[in-house]
Parts: sequence; C-alpha cells; structure tokens
Amino acid sequence: MASQVYFTNLRTAYNNSLLTKIQHLVLAAGLEDIVRKGGLTAVKLHFGERGGTAFIRPLLVRPVVDALLKAGARPFLTDTGTLYVGSRGSAVDHLNTAVLNGFDYSVAGAPLIIADGLDGADEISVAVNLKHFSEVLIASTIVRADALVSLAHFKLHDAAGFGGAIKNIGMGAASRKGKMAQHSEVAPKIIAKKCIGCGLCAQQCAHGAILMVERPAGVAAPDSSVAQLVRIDRTLCVGCAQCIHACAQGALTINWDTDCAKLMEKIAEYAAGALKGKEKRSLFINFLTQISPACDCYPFSDAPIVADIGIAASRDPVALDQACVDLLNKSAHLPSSRLEGEKHYPDKIRALYPKLDWERQLIHAQEVGLGSREYELVEIAGNKR
Ligand code: SF4
Ligand code: SF4
Repeated sequence: MASQVYFTNLRTAYNNSLLTKIQHLVLAAGLEDIVRKGGLTAVKLHFGERGGTAFIRPLLVRPVVDALLKAGARPFLTDTGTLYVGSRGSAVDHLNTAVLNGFDYSVAGAPLIIADGLDGADEISVAVNLKHFSEVLIASTIVRADALVSLAHFKLHDAAGFGGAIKNIGMGAASRKGKMAQHSEVAPKIIAKKCIGCGLCAQQCAHGAILMVERPAGVAAPDSSVAQLVRIDRTLCVGCAQCIHACAQGALTINWDTDCAKLMEKIAEYAAGALKGKEKRSLFINFLTQISPACDCYPFSDAPIVADIGIAASRDPVALDQACVDLLNKSAHLPSSRLEGEKHYPDKIRALYPKLDWERQLIHAQEVGLGSREYELVEIAGNKR
C-alpha cells in the first residue's frame, strides 16, 4: 500500500514564511499523533562536522521543536558520536561542534543530548533477528525516548548512495560498537601500484589498522625507489574511510562491488532496531536543501548538485527516502557542481557513484518491514508554483 509523503517547496510569501510552512508540513504529516503528553521526544539530526556547511540550518529546526512543545512533548536534540577522527568523536567535542554550528538552545529551543554518552559506549541491545544481525546496539537515550522525530539532510553518500531518513536512524542511532558492526566489512582496497609508501594514511587511522611493510618483490610500484607498501589489518579496521581521504595518490578505495551493498542492508536493519517499539511514535522529515555530493561527516561540503527542492515528511521512512531520490532525479543538475556539463543525468546517484547499487538500501528497508517504496506525494496547502 502506498504511504503518504507530504511535501513543501521553498516558495514563501508575507503571511507564509518557511518557518510557518515547516509547521504546517509536520502537522500534516501527523506530528501530533506520534507524541504523548510529557513524552521525552528525541529529535535525531546531524549537527554537522566542523567545516561542513550543508547540514540543516538550526533556525529551521525551531518550528519542529515548537510544534512538539505545542503538542505537549518534551523534545531534545540528539545525535551519536562518530567512528572516525573528527570533531564529533566524544560527547564534549560533539556538543562544542554543535554549538559552533549554531545548534544552541537559544536558536533551536531544545536542549542537546549526545545519545550514546561521553564516549559512544552507552548502548542498549535490541533484538531484531534479521539477515545480518540478531541484535543491534542502539544509543541508550534513543531507546529510552518515548518518541522519535528524524530530521535528515538529504544528500549523496559515497558508500550508501544517499543519506536520508533510513541512514539518519540506522547509522545515526547506533552506538560506536553498533557503527563498527555496520562498517566492519568495508575495509579499503589497496591499489599497490599507486602507493608511494608515504605513511599519511597510517597517521590518520585512529584504530592502528594500517602498517607500512616492505614492498614484496614483483608488486608494481609508482617507481623503483618506493620500497614500502601499505597493509591493512582487517581485524582492526572499522571501515571509517578516513584513510581513503588522507591518500592523495588514490591508492586506497572502497570495495564497491560487495561491501557497500552489505553496508546498506545493515543500515536498514539498524534502523529497524532503532525504531522498534516506536513504530507508531516516529516521524521522518528530510530537507532537500544544499544536496551535496557526499556525506555531511566530511569537514567540507561541496557545491549542491541540484537547486534546493523543498522539505518532505512522512510516517514511513522508506516512502520518504524513495520520494526524495525521485525528486532529486527529476531535478535539473547544476553544472557548477560535480555533475558538470550539459549532459542529462536521469540517475544522479549512479552518475557520481557508478558502482553503487543505491536501491539496495530501499529494497532491504522494505524487506525488513520499515515501510513501503510506494508513495503518494501530497503537497501541503500554500505551495506556490
Ligand atoms: S596508501 Fe596513500 S597515504 Fe597510504 S602510504 Fe600509500 S600513498 Fe601514502
Ligand atoms: S584502515 Fe582506514 S578505514 Fe580502516 S579504520 Fe583505519 S582509517 Fe578507518
């Protein structure tokens, strides 16, 4: 059965600002039906990496918080710590980064809580009994919350194809160990002939998974003076991809063909675990603004690949993400972005990540009962064209 996905474009008027339209959107999508009076409500979002600029503007979170308060809920903004070295690895760094990025109480109207505690270890095991996991490790604060509102910045992602509601909840609600369990099979592949043995990747690896070894005889090298080669200990690697970005030679890459499909399925199973018990008390909102070509976890945001589209909301995270992919692919690309030139790109995710089967995320999410890929797009009243 088709799920309803509510949509507002970004057209506004004197008596209908974007803040007002967001309130109308979330009410139309059923916000009042998911909260209980006095219920602690987790508003799960990404506060942005330091240096990133494409995350949801804090000012636009306020109307969602206000609607929750009006409905009698007690909302708080929340996210979990990262696996990789960055500005959100511990709760202290994470909160400092969030405030620097503008997620202050005075702007957003709700307190900030890091859901998996000081060091990412506050977790609760949730039984799911699915293809990859019998149980998943979810941040304790999210499990304990009475209701959940996902606020996701919709963008492309170099391992999951795209990041929307499913990824915000699947990877984003997992504790550190839970994130490792999802990433564990995504150890980078080494392209030996490109490796100059500089060791920069090893310096970036927070998990001690990279060793520099003597280059075995017969292994091609960029030139004959390169005596060392990188080696990755797969038992230590957590698949955070930090080293890939450290390597200016392009000698490390993701194993696209096999590992990413599994990662997408694992994300979907974690999302099912994070929502367990909250199936009737969750709402998902995706911002199709500044749709960047890669994840918000990088300390930069590249130019958007399409013009801003709008904001969509649904009680069904699968329908919502499917609708967002479709809205993205219907939009004209911006040649000033990574999608250069005048060529038509009917599938913008595959245009940038040709080896990624991004549909896997949606297919498996539907298989595990998270929702339906069939949807009806409902425009909220007051949408000018
Ligand atoms: S993989 Fe890249 S960063 Fe690592 S040693 Fe080789 S060239 Fe240097
Ligand atoms: S080897 Fe690379 S992907 Fe693996 S943990 Fe180290 S930095 Fe992360």
